[in-house]
Amino acid sequence: MAKGKKEVDDRFGRFGTVSFTSISKVNDFIDYLAQGKVMGTRCKQCGATHFPPVADCAECLSSNVEWFEVTGTGKLVSFSTLTYGPVGFEDDLPYAIALLDYGDYKVFGRIAKDIPEKELSIGMAMKTEPLTLPNGQLSYVFSKA
Ligand SMILES: [Zn+2]
Repeated sequence: MAKGKKEVDDRFGRFGTVSFTSISKVNDFIDYLAQGKVMGTRCKQCGATHFPPVADCAECLSSNVEWFEVTGTGKLVSFSTLTYGPVGFEDDLPYAIALLDYGDYKVFGRIAKDIPEKELSIGMAMKTEPLTLPNGQLSYVFSKA
């Protein structure tokens, strides 16, 4: 039975705690990563900050958003070491996912692989750093401040 229309493949949007589907609207995020900058968006209308970046403010729905760089340190709010993961991530295991609280916004991501779990503690200061993976893909990780 042939399908009449091609369905949009949005499976990746279901991965992780935060949906990354919104990033497809704001591809400049990737260009900034390539330049070594991890960026979020700030609404010029109401001042709300978002990470991952959004094209439309989740608070007031305004499209009047600007980029800001994630700089300084955030506080480690929670972390969890994964010993199994989705298809495509098996070779990365084990790795730790975490949430940093920067005050106005939170950043969800991974802990740098060279930091042992025993050196992590809730409340410690960490920074968000851009990372180029061995296969050339761009990402970011959390490292000790
Ligand atoms: Zn807004």
